[in-house]
Amino acid sequence: MITVAEAIQIVKEQTQTLSPERVELDDALDRFLAEDVIADSDLPPFDRSQMDGYAVRAADTQNAPVRLRIVGESVAGAGWHNEMLAGQAVRIMTGAPVPKGADTVQQVELTRELDEGATVEIQRPAYLGKAIVGRASEIKAGETVLRAGERINAAMMAVLASFGQAKVTVGREPRVAVLATGSELVAVDQQPGQDQIRDSNNYSIGAYAALAGAIVELMPLTGDDPGLLKHQIATAAERSDVVVTSGGVSMGVYDFTKTALKELGGEIFFERVSLRPGKPTVFARLPNGVLVFGLPGNPVSVSVTFNLFARTSLLAMQGAHEPALEEEWAILERSVKGSVDRESYLPGQIRTGEAGHLLAQPLKWGGSSDFIAFARATGLIRVPAGVATLEIGSTVRVVRLPS
Ligand code: AMP
Ligand code: MG
Repeated sequence: MITVAEAIQIVKEQTQTLSPERVELDDALDRFLAEDVIADSDLPPFDRSQMDGYAVRAADTQNAPVRLRIVGESVAGAGWHNEMLAGQAVRIMTGAPVPKGADTVQQVELTRELDEGATVEIQRPAYLGKAIVGRASEIKAGETVLRAGERINAAMMAVLASFGQAKVTVGREPRVAVLATGSELVAVDQQPGQDQIRDSNNYSIGAYAALAGAIVELMPLTGDDPGLLKHQIATAAERSDVVVTSGGVSMGVYDFTKTALKELGGEIFFERVSLRPGKPTVFARLPNGVLVFGLPGNPVSVSVTFNLFARTSLLAMQGAHEPALEEEWAILERSVKGSVDRESYLPGQIRTGEAGHLLAQPLKWGGSSDFIAFARATGLIRVPAGVATLEIGSTVRVVRLPS
């Protein structure tokens, strides 16, 4: 059996980045940049006033209160482009260029206009450079502002707009076909009959895949029939970059997913991971290049294995700089039991404590099929293989569940 870290490494190695595409800036949120973004201009492009007030020379204000002659007005979008001399002041607005000859801006609250606007009284001294954001002090033309592999957040949208990126080159969104298998499954709008349950995996997988940036298609539910399963996987693979199945990968007599993948000519990279829950997870590639994640049917295993493995692949396809879930340290708030031979990823709530470090509260739950309790989890707590009990107060590795 391979470790979780080894399995993640294999997923990264076998995943190819999809060819990038150009999208309108409006559509770029949450996409992954495929190219570095270079500043096409200095920012600010001129010495800019940060306040409404008067552009003056700091030296003129040292014996404030003083009176200075108003010689012009600099407005955002229409500056005053003459040289201001000693003893003079220019009325200035936030965002307007500071005229040549001025070296500070005194805010309007510390001034008073006199003589019907001919002079201004500066009531307090202004230090040199006050309220001026110097040209190129935020960034110089030619510098890299954002890097390939970063996910575009709302604040980055402003950065892209500022540098004229009306179109942005981003990784293509992977198409994911989601396929639940199991003869006991009925659709969400059906009343389960005897021995049946509603399919829930398609919805958690679909949701997590969407959070990972994928375009999701749910395939029809497929019973435990080898021929039908093979046909459905092949159909799913014709219209997607990744197929994610759930169920049918354990050792049961009616577990046919691996057989179907093999009969379709699939290359299996791993089929057992030293992980609890989620040991029988399968990762394969079909002859047409489509990757397949065969997740166990247990709904909790689905959430854990999807986010450790399939999500990593989906992000890598989009060119993400670091595709795997980030691990952080936290302090355990209640003791938990590990497993002798496998790493455990146990559901918990992760929060920041008063001292500023992360705390991990393991969920009380009825075991690895309890997906109702799991719905309250915000992260997974990793217990290394072979550790019988992790005591309260221990430091543990955690990952946050995407939300
Ligand atoms: P399997 O991996 O097929 O042996 O399934 C393990 C457990 O997960 C069984 O109790 C199944 O009924 C349940 N299960 C499998 N697929 C789904 C699904 N799509 N939705 C909800 N439960 C499922
Ligand atoms: Mg099954």
